[in-house]
Amino acid sequence: TSTIEKIAAGEVIENPRSIVKELVENSIDASATNIKVSLKSGGIEEIIVSDNGSGIDDNSIILAFERHATSKILSFDDLYSSYYFGFRGEALASIKACSKVTVSTKTIDRDLGTKVQFNELDIKKSEIAMNKGTVIQVTNLFYNTPVRKKFLSSENVEASKVSELLKELAIGNNISIEYYLDDKLIFKTFKDSTIEQKMIQLISKNLEGHIISFEMQNELYNVKAYISDNTFFRANRKNQYIYVNNRIIDSKDISISIEKAYSSIIPNGKFPSFVLFISTEANNLDVNIHPNKKNISFSNFEQLLEDLYISTKNSLKPDDL
Ligand code: ADP
Ligand code: MG
Repeated sequence: TSTIEKIAAGEVIENPRSIVKELVENSIDASATNIKVSLKSGGIEEIIVSDNGSGIDDNSIILAFERHATSKILSFDDLYSSYYFGFRGEALASIKACSKVTVSTKTIDRDLGTKVQFNELDIKKSEIAMNKGTVIQVTNLFYNTPVRKKFLSSENVEASKVSELLKELAIGNNISIEYYLDDKLIFKTFKDSTIEQKMIQLISKNLEGHIISFEMQNELYNVKAYISDNTFFRANRKNQYIYVNNRIIDSKDISISIEKAYSSIIPNGKFPSFVLFISTEANNLDVNIHPNKKNISFSNFEQLLEDLYISTKNSLKPDDL
């Protein structure tokens, strides 16, 4: 592993969450509909992501783990117009640079799958019986960079970061996700379940019968919103999911405009749980920052905030309570 690879890996791979994010996004990009994630010791000991996606062509498996190997496309600016999550072709290379990786994969046209074990410079390739799809096992995270390893949080904290990520991905994509910690099932979401069902499952059972939804358009933006109308549990901004062109973002301003509308209608209401899907032409967005950061800027943002405020307020009419 070259120094350059290690440095570059550090940029993308910070903790088990970053690995799971890259692997699950790859699974989604490969049209998987079932994705299973299992961690041992918060992912520090082992992470396994398996999917029922396209699989990787036998002759490009090893290449897929080289830097800048992407079957996808594009530059940074195209991020929010791309159908794919991946675009730089460096995730697998970065993961391989800071851990030990085994990949097993099978495409539809083959009878047997291929298993490749990467261990430093040693690469072992063999055949394996499996279904179509890909299983990637990552162990010994940061074995070659002890300082990074020291900066990891406790197993529980690392596992809960992964859990939060998987909730974001489960709400934002029409897929089934299973999440296991030390062989115990933490949650399983189902493909084709509604956003309301996912919110009740992943945020709180108390949301049942208490989610209002609306659609809103202005000149630049289309919004589909799902917002709780109750205060039955201690909510916080963790229960707020904002997607722009299907990618999760953080926007305190958007949260605040919805919170203001909510608290003006709901007695004692402070933090509504909500899911927002905003869609727009990519040229209305500025992603002039690192792709792993979740902040972006919007054209005509004030108008968007104002329209969200008004629509939220109108949808939470007191006579609905
Ligand atoms: P990127 O996603 O930016 O293309 P990655 O390093 O994440 O780069 O992946 C490299 C390539 O490996 C992908 O472009 C894809 O062709 C292939 N690949 C990775 N994971 C999977 C998967 N789960 N199923 C099918 N192909 C995959
Ligand atoms: Mg990728």
